[in-house]
Amino acid sequence: MKDQLLYEGKAKQVFTVQDDENALVLSYKNDATAFNGEKKAEFQGKGRYNNLISARVFDHLKKHGVPSHFKKALNDTEQLVEKTTIIPLEVIVRNVAAGSLVRRIGISEKTELNPPVIEFCYKNDELGDPLINDDHALLLTDTSGDELDQIKQMALTVNQRLQILFQEVDLQLVDFKLEFGRNAAGEIVLSDEVSPDTCRLWDVKTGEKMDKDVFREDLGDLMTVYETILQRLEALS
Ligand code: ADP
Ligand code: UDP
Repeated sequence: MKDQLLYEGKAKQVFTVQDDENALVLSYKNDATAFNGEKKAEFQGKGRYNNLISARVFDHLKKHGVPSHFKKALNDTEQLVEKTTIIPLEVIVRNVAAGSLVRRIGISEKTELNPPVIEFCYKNDELGDPLINDDHALLLTDTSGDELDQIKQMALTVNQRLQILFQEVDLQLVDFKLEFGRNAAGEIVLSDEVSPDTCRLWDVKTGEKMDKDVFREDLGDLMTVYETILQRLEALS
């Protein structure tokens, strides 16, 4: 099924697929990085957890009509997706103040954000993924103003669906990062991953952090946390 390694990133390898130029295999790695690659470690099992959690999340979103690249999980660490041309934006949605927002604008951590705050960052490792505004996004990508609005609307729909999904497993969706891409038909679809690497999730009962902040802030055993999230999601179906 998978053919040639097309790209190796910090968290995944991307492979072409034999006999289907419009598909890719995403292979999830055990590596963890934080602070723009400055902090690095390897965790046995992380690729499996993120692949299986992201597959469940995309399946759920597909059932609720969110167009995405996701086709199916192939095995524990790999999934088959539609090839897209990634729009170089990190679309961040925030329901509660945390992380860089707290550092940047001095708001207290845990402040509820209603309506949610959407941010665009320019996906560019050399520049450290800087925060940009809509005009910068129009300048730096091939998207139109209407398409940027469409991306924001899709991000808010994903937020509504995922807030409910995670609430069902006693997790508060604090914030998350999405990527969108354009498929062969020119449609903008949700791409990349949704996992505890790319979301902040706080345990509703204990308030504990249940995401990559455990690694960023040395709060405990990251794989126990990821295992708990997968188990809770698996118990839903
Ligand atoms: P990074 O590039 O930030 O280190 P990863 O290690 O997760 O990230 O690498 C996966 C790469 O695959 C990312 O650059 C991501 O934008 C890209 N990608 C995700 N989904 C698709 C897709 N459907 N088509 C093409 N590229 C994709
Ligand atoms: N995020 C991500 N990849 C990035 C930057 C952010 O997945 O390159 C996610 C991060 O895990 C969090 C949300 O986006 O869920 C908001 O991150 P923030 O801007 O607060 O950055 P950080 O505190 O991680 O520097």
